[in-house]
Parts: sequence; structure tokens; C-alpha cells
Amino acid sequence: MTPDEFRKHAHELVEWMAGYMENVENLPVKSLVKPGEIFNKIPDKPPLHSESFDSLMKDFNEIIMPGISHWQNPNFFAYFPANTSPASILAEMLIATLGAQCMIWETSPAAAELEEKMMIWLRELIGLPSGFEGVIQDSASTATLAAILTAREKTTGFSGNIEGIKKSGILKVYCSEQTHSSVEKAVKISGIGSKNLVKIPVKDDFSMDPEKLKEAITYDKNNGQIPCCVVATLGTTGTTSVDPLKAIGEICHENDIWLHVDAAMAGTALILPEFQWMLEGKEYIDSFVFNPHKWMFTNFDCTAYFVKDAGALIKTFEILPEYLKTRTRGKVNDYRDWGVPMGRRFRALKLWSVIRTYGVEGLCDKVRNHIAIAAKLSEMISKEDDFEILAPVIISVVCFRYNPGGYTEDQINILNEKLNHQLNDSGKIYLSHTVLNGRYTLRMVTAQTNVTLGHVERAWVLIMETARSLKS
Ligand SMILES: *Cc1c(COP(=O)(O)O)cnc(C)c1O
Repeated sequence: MTPDEFRKHAHELVEWMAGYMENVENLPVKSLVKPGEIFNKIPDKPPLHSESFDSLMKDFNEIIMPGISHWQNPNFFAYFPANTSPASILAEMLIATLGAQCMIWETSPAAAELEEKMMIWLRELIGLPSGFEGVIQDSASTATLAAILTAREKTTGFSGNIEGIKKSGILKVYCSEQTHSSVEKAVKISGIGSKNLVKIPVKDDFSMDPEKLKEAITYDKNNGQIPCCVVATLGTTGTTSVDPLKAIGEICHENDIWLHVDAAMAGTALILPEFQWMLEGKEYIDSFVFNPHKWMFTNFDCTAYFVKDAGALIKTFEILPEYLKTRTRGKVNDYRDWGVPMGRRFRALKLWSVIRTYGVEGLCDKVRNHIAIAAKLSEMISKEDDFEILAPVIISVVCFRYNPGGYTEDQINILNEKLNHQLNDSGKIYLSHTVLNGRYTLRMVTAQTNVTLGHVERAWVLIMETARSLKS
């Protein structure tokens, strides 16, 4: 493809992209294709001869689009947001065009230095102490793995990397029953072992019970085991419950344990002064992760990972083969030593574009609006006798179920599962579920970039009507 042909197709694509943004609301939110349907429409062998881009676009529209669930549809209320925004997409176009590998400073100084500055911007925006240094990772899961590996190395006097961890004794990691599965994955693959992950019980509001944490740590120490890391969550995946950071931090401090904070989704709410209470006890944090690629209008991937002791992180990951030796080493940030992958995309450009385009005020207005919509939805649900709220509504996630009375718990669970599937199959809205204290729970997340109160009001009417028609 010549630059001229590229220009023609790119202009057409921009039309497609803007049209998608205008129309996405009218597309079925959840794809309704059957397993194998898309696979079977794609030829078994690659083409021998060049095909036109127009023929690709034709197949994209006819074969691929029906198999897409539309996360950018404002009626998408499932899982968590994976927000994009025009500013982020435009930056992504530049990033793809440059195609720069940003593994070390020398391979693109602007990328390394913009990343350093963007992490300072974000750190200040969310209110982390100034000693923290940040790096962009591909996902919260990767950042949490980096945290647990660093905690492992610090606990073993940096011998784990060299000797293996068998000699160090049994290391223990603690999190709550509501913690995201990425912690278990990190404990498995870090060599600590998932049976050494202790899941601390939660209180009625689904936050970690610090007394139980203290007991577990004391028990393990008395049994000759070595507490290595505690993971506290601000905004759990199921209900966005908030673990009490200060109480947990004091326990970590007394016992010299690494404190990692997972704020993947809720971290964005910290840009609002009224949510700074979540960070009370922040002086105890060793590492902190949040995902601008969830709620901060920056398309996947873009995870912000902060550490108090960047030296420990680098010592854990550093490797210096001959071909990566440079004259600037030690004077600049070579981010390949700040995590697992060597190759790195120029993700800082997306953050720069998003933050400058919205402005801090614009970001705050949007996030605040999403939180207000969740509160309104919670009010609407509370008004109906045959529905109940199942967890405190803290930010932009509302957990509820249909409970018309006269049914056993098992029957209510079946009813709500049916309700969830029927709503999703309608293509009009998309919800997902969790299970809380044995109850099948519908989760509605009101944080899509373009969601309005109107979308949520219409969704709520649909949910009530569908539920009541199921019953009769
Ligand atoms: C979404 C989420 C994760 C996982 O994030 P990825 O970036 O997809 O790895 C981890 N923890 C919490 C609390 C989350 O909400």
C-alpha cells in the first residue's frame, strides 16, 4: 500500500469511526453470535495474492461486526468500563503510525520522558505522596504481578531471583475474599504458590476485616511462615467495596510487610477531592495500581503503576545484556527494567491527549456525573418493593436483585439468572453478575464514557418490566 492509497483508506476509515461513535447506541450491546459462527466464516487458508483493503472492510463489516460486543455503547453496564474517547483514539493513531519501541530511553527519549511526566501528573491528580514513582504497564494484572515479585524479592533479601525461593521458607500473601483473581494468578506464577494466599474474611460491607488480617499474620508467624505482602483493594470487582487502608497499613507497618493497593477501577474516583478518604493511610502504601483504561477515557491498554521504592522494583526486574548497554544508563528511566515485557508501546501519548483534551475539570465532571447516576439508580431501585440493593453503593456500581416474595432463595437465584440472560439477549442493555453471600446478584456499572441518566432510567424501566413478566 502506498502512502497515497493509505491516505484514501484512512480518510474512509475516519468516516467509519466517527459514524460508529454516532451510531453505537443503536447496535446490540452484547453480541448474540453462537460459538464458532465467526471462525467458520473465515477462510482456512491465508490468501496467496494481495487483496484490496476494500474487500477487507467489506468482511469486517459483514463478518466481524456482528461478533462484537459494544463496550462503547452507553447501554453497556456489565463488568467494568473499558472507556475510549476521541482524544485517546486520535493519540492511538499517532502511536501506531510512529510504531516506536519504547523499551529504553534511547529508543525514543520523548516516550520515556513523557511517561515520566504523565506519571507525575497522575500521581498528583489522585493524591499519592510525592515520593512515589510511576510506570505504565499493560494491565493491572501485570502491575500486581510486579508488586508481588518485588515484595518477594524484598522479603528474601533479593535472593529469590538468584537462588529460587525454596530456600527462603514459606512466604504468605494476604488479600480479602472479594479481591480480584489477578492476585491469585500472581501468587501462583511468582512461585509463592496459591495455597500460600490467605483470603481474609470481609465485613457486612464486603471490606476486609483488619482484625482477621492481624490474626492470620500472627498465626502464620507463630508457625514459622513469612508474611510477604498484603493486597488491599479500593473498589473490589464485585461491589466496589473499599478495604480500610489505614488499619491494614498499620498492621503491615508493624510487621514489616509490603502493602500493595489494587484500585484498578476506583482509582479514577481519587481525582475527586470527595473521594480522598479512600486513601487515608496512604503513607503505608508500597505500591499502587489503577487503570486509566477502565474509567479514565483512555483506551486499552494503559495501567498506571506506582511504587514508593523504585529501586526495589528495578532491582527485581533489571537485566543488562550487552545489546542494551547505553551511555545514558543511570541518568534516565529505562522502563524495560520496571516490569516484565521488554518491548513497550508509547502509551503515555494517550494519557497526554486525554488529560489535555478534557482538562482536569472535564475529567472530574464526567466521573462525578457517573457517580451521581449510580446514586440515582440506587434510589430508583430502593423505591420498588420487589427489588433489593445487595451492597453499599460507593461509586459507580450498583448491586441488586429481583425478589418478588414467596420464593425460596434457590428460586430467587434462578429467577435473577434468567432475568440477566433475558436482558442481555434483548441486545438493548448488557449487565453482568456476581454472587454475594450465596445470592445471585445483578451488577449495573454506570461509568461508560457517554452514559447519561436517561440511559439508566430507560434501562431501569426495561429491567422492571422484564423481571415482572418473568414472574407471571
Ligand atoms: C479490572 C480489575 C483488575 C484487572 O485489571 P486488568 O487491567 O484487566 O488486568 C484487577 N483488579 C480490580 C479491582 C479490577 O477491577
